[in-house]
Amino acid sequence: MAYEIYKNIVSKEAYFKSWDQSKLDTLNADIEDAVYHRYTVKAKVMQRAGFRCQNTECTTPKASLTWHHIKFQKNEGRDSERNTVILCKTCHDKYHQAKLTVKYPKKGVPSHVAGHSFRLEAPDKVNAKILRKKMRAFRRSIRGTYNLEVTDEEFMWLFRYLFS
Ligand SMILES: [Zn+2]
Ligand SMILES: [Zn+2]
Repeated sequence: MAYEIYKNIVSKEAYFKSWDQSKLDTLNADIEDAVYHRYTVKAKVMQRAGFRCQNTECTTPKASLTWHHIKFQKNEGRDSERNTVILCKTCHDKYHQAKLTVKYPKKGVPSHVAGHSFRLEAPDKVNAKILRKKMRAFRRSIRGTYNLEVTDEEFMWLFRYLFS
């Protein structure tokens, strides 16, 4: 089943077994910790959602499930249980395109959004300037804090994984 890995939180070792080992060799322990932490939070949010889209007016319950940040990541929204919910891909895409109102249930979502409806006024465009700034900072932190050299390709892969 597609969401098996989120049903029971597995150990760090077990989690990384499913990763491409050649890419994994380029990650050091700190980055591994960050990636693993992100997985455990997402798993808890998936469980809290009961593995269903949390838009109560969802008309495509069979679409694949995605992780939505209430306060967007580009606005420093965190990967926390309080800041994230589960939306199916259809609701999620339409929400970001400002084409859909998302109405959250009373339970199973962070209390500050429970029972509330949300709709964007304009499509959510990724701000290229902010993104580039974030990528530069991330790259510096990999080189500096982690003292790690990664190729451009590995960097893009890691960046997409951590910030998508
Ligand atoms: Zn949905
Ligand atoms: Zn989202």
